[in-house]
Amino acid sequence: MTQLQQGLDSRAEVVVDLDAIAANTAVLRERVGRPLMAVVKADGYGHGLVPAARAVLAGGADALGVAVIEEALALRAAGIGAPLLAWLNGPSEDYAAALAADVEVSVNAEWALAEVVDAARATGTTARVHLFADTGLSREGATPEAWPGLVAAAARAQADGEVSVTGLWSHLAYADAPTHPAIGAQVRVFEEAVALARAAGLTEARRHLANSAATIALPETWYDMVRPGVALYGLDPLGGDPAQYGLRPAMTVQARVLLTKRVPAGVGVSYGLTYSPDKETTLALVPVGYGDGIPRAAGNRAPVLAAGAQRTIAGRVCMDQFVLDVGDDPIAPGDTVVLWGSGEHGEPTAQQWADAADTIHYELVTRVGGRFRRRHVGSAGVA
Ligand SMILES: *Cc1c(COP(=O)(O)O)cnc(C)c1O
Repeated sequence: MTQLQQGLDSRAEVVVDLDAIAANTAVLRERVGRPLMAVVKADGYGHGLVPAARAVLAGGADALGVAVIEEALALRAAGIGAPLLAWLNGPSEDYAAALAADVEVSVNAEWALAEVVDAARATGTTARVHLFADTGLSREGATPEAWPGLVAAAARAQADGEVSVTGLWSHLAYADAPTHPAIGAQVRVFEEAVALARAAGLTEARRHLANSAATIALPETWYDMVRPGVALYGLDPLGGDPAQYGLRPAMTVQARVLLTKRVPAGVGVSYGLTYSPDKETTLALVPVGYGDGIPRAAGNRAPVLAAGAQRTIAGRVCMDQFVLDVGDDPIAPGDTVVLWGSGEHGEPTAQQWADAADTIHYELVTRVGGRFRRRHVGSAGVA
């Protein structure tokens, strides 16, 4: 039994090692030797927004990044005072609340800048904004056609003291394929966007472009700050072994066996009877399913550590449960099985699960939840 498994006293739990998150942050910070904005959106990629934020700050993160203003305000409400950027802003956001909480906001368009300026006037503050350039992802940001207008409006608002442009930024489409020509093309568009903004007088703004994959593989994209997310949690954005970069997965997902039974060869297992043992065997029932964020696509495909070995899930994943076939190995109700973890104790990794379920580990860690209990271990960032 591992140290993590000994603590399992609930039906199913997601164990998050805060020391791993802090250590991963320190490794990346050291790798780039410049400021690091740690992305903690989506409940800290499923690791817990506030504990993850405290852990990355303990590991040396210089700033935090989240998608929406609500996430930023939750961090402030928890007493976290670090520089903080919220970027996924639509019409009628509560910019006044963001400015009052000293949250920096990203702006994609002139109409959005106008709303920020209104909020700055109303609150008597100077809004700290990052201008987002769409350099080829075609998601957030101003296109090269819209960029000059946005920059000119921002420069005017800065001259008037309503905003301070503290960031010029963009996001890569294909950083997980480090040799793809799209990267060079985006870098060129980004540099043109930066040059235009600098010429318009936005000289103080930090440039930032690199997500996790670029933080690992593309030094030419590091600029004034990097912006990793998934790698902080110890997952390799390039799909390899995170240990090669000194990163360790922080999340372990485990459950207690609810029931075991001996069955004869030829029984059908789970909905649709898609699995059938070819000899007498022991089945173990695991009480988590797609209602808890375990992908249904994992049925008959994903591995689980049970009774000392990795077993492929037997049959379909149901809403609340799935079944394992452990052969003649000893297993009893209450025993712990591990779906994914660091891989250091023989358990599968989130990457193995992603490959098996035809998804990415990002989706697995952010969706696991439901009736899992989350437990934080380690001391990084714990007051
Ligand atoms: C989510 C996100 C990141 C972090 O991406 P990772 O691949 O997890 O490192 C960085 N920047 C933006 C704009 C994002 O949306």
